[in-house]
Amino acid sequence: MPIMAVEIQNRTALPSTAAQPERPLGRAMSRGARLKCPSCGKGRIFKSYLKVRETCSACREELHHHRADDAPPYFTVFIVGHIVVPAILSVEMALAPPLWMHFTAWIPLTLAMTLLLLPMTKGALVGLQWSLRMHGFNPNNESASDA
Ligand SMILES: [Zn+2]
Repeated sequence: MPIMAVEIQNRTALPSTAAQPERPLGRAMSRGARLKCPSCGKGRIFKSYLKVRETCSACREELHHHRADDAPPYFTVFIVGHIVVPAILSVEMALAPPLWMHFTAWIPLTLAMTLLLLPMTKGALVGLQWSLRMHGFNPNNESASDA
């Protein structure tokens, strides 16, 4: 068999995404970060603080396929750390306040930023996985299981 024919045959054996509706990555992540369904942008993505709904309440899109795992805390710590640590160092270098002032300012700020960003980061990651049809988000991928 000629090489061209083999390549064409292999291409057709791959799961086709051409017939599937587009899932723009930026829009899906943005909607997720706003705690909305990555598909419709109307339904809420979480049923509690960090618990993702089984399906969207507005469009019935299945959301339980996500596997965010420990990526949201990782990215949240990464972001908050890159904001808070330079801020602490800058304030210390400029004003040198007493230690109790550092504690009373930075600990609540760090906690507030972390608790605010964690669901946003998780929502964005669920949006990313949905957009890229990862795990069970690809209806054509029968080998993907989300047990
Ligand atoms: Zn939806």
